[in-house]
Amino acid sequence: MPLIHDRSHEIFAKAQTLIPGGVNSPARAFGAVGGTPVVMLRGDGPYLYDVDGNQYLDYIGSWGPHILGHRHPQVIEAIHRAVDLGTSFGAPCELENELAELVIDAIPSIELVRMVNSGTEATMSAIRVARGFTGRDLIVKFAGCYHGHVDSLLVKAGSGALTLGTPSSPGIPAGCTDATLVLEYNDCDQLETVFRERGDQIACVILEPVVGNMGTVIPDTEFLQTLRRVCDESGAVLIFDEVMTGFRLAYGGAQSRLGVTPDMTTLGKILGGGLPVGAYGGRRDIMQTVSPLGPVYQAGTLSGNPVAMASGIATLRVLKETNPYPQLDDYTNWLTSGLSSMAAKHGIPHQIPQIGSMFTLFFNDQPVRNYNDAVRSNTKQFAAYFHEMLERGIYLACSQFEANFASAVLTQDDLNRTLQAADEALAAVAAL
Ligand SMILES: *Cc1c(COP(=O)(O)O)cnc(C)c1O
Repeated sequence: MPLIHDRSHEIFAKAQTLIPGGVNSPARAFGAVGGTPVVMLRGDGPYLYDVDGNQYLDYIGSWGPHILGHRHPQVIEAIHRAVDLGTSFGAPCELENELAELVIDAIPSIELVRMVNSGTEATMSAIRVARGFTGRDLIVKFAGCYHGHVDSLLVKAGSGALTLGTPSSPGIPAGCTDATLVLEYNDCDQLETVFRERGDQIACVILEPVVGNMGTVIPDTEFLQTLRRVCDESGAVLIFDEVMTGFRLAYGGAQSRLGVTPDMTTLGKILGGGLPVGAYGGRRDIMQTVSPLGPVYQAGTLSGNPVAMASGIATLRVLKETNPYPQLDDYTNWLTSGLSSMAAKHGIPHQIPQIGSMFTLFFNDQPVRNYNDAVRSNTKQFAAYFHEMLERGIYLACSQFEANFASAVLTQDDLNRTLQAADEALAAVAAL
């Protein structure tokens, strides 16, 4: 029997009269897969419950934050305690020190850290600091990496490989992106060339050290090593955008797994444990340029507010104490092996890159190493698969070009159920 979504449809119809597209962030609108988004009522552990009473096994975790599942008791309790003391002071509070100390202990390349309210704010600020520190304007990013809705980072590659970027959204003046160079991920030759030609003008390179935002794409070791070397040789600041991977791939983030150390790191998502927190930090000499210590201005009315800090502190403490990462790796690896066998059994060409608790089932017969590879995936098959899984109570990321996340509260039963659903869903996809 198909799931009933009457109440969802009703609420979403009203939302569309009030909010652009009915959503406060576009990925939620099911634009890439068609259909109407499900309106959620509550989350509990690995599950989400919608307003019609349907239960879903959640592989999105609010797009990253909920590595501990929904409403983890220690996190909820910490939030309650903080709320009781007031929600925002606009003055220093001790919880800011606690979260900063946890971040600095977890990620040794961060010597000083500044809290903000979102991942977007973190990357926007990090880029400003890198430019202020180096006195240079050019920034390098990679096609398919997403760093939030910062003007200078919403860029697509120009016509030639090494041309300057063009805005990927109306409303962004060309002047905002004409200092942004867009290169192909995992392409060492392009990186060498651009640094040979313009290295002395480049303020920073920003990248997702493991990509989630074109689907999961894993970097080559040689690519990461080349990045580190060209930045060292030119004096450019290497920024790892770990908004997704921080506290996700390991407690110390992607950088602790990959063995390459950036100069600056941006964080978000898990850092706030479900409340809005971002952060940027890095080498002391770079971070000392930030206001009021230095001349680079950056501020925030609600930055470091006690409720958000308490949520982040509790989340990080649980992660540190329970170290769920080995188990997450094992479970996710088991799951993706299973998904791969199912897809093969049904004769569906696929790739399933996985690292730690991040994975993407690409409907693609070639390895996916960059954005060009990713966009050659069969998005029709993906959309069908997504809806077949949703109908079976499995809530996956609603685009081929997103990562899915396992949470630490999944059980072997949940994984079995997921594979069972995937077997049926992929059979339906194969029959298309
Ligand atoms: C989600 C994300 C951002 C943006 O964070 P918001 O909190 O949505 O502004 C930036 N970079 C990466 C890598 C992300 O995954």
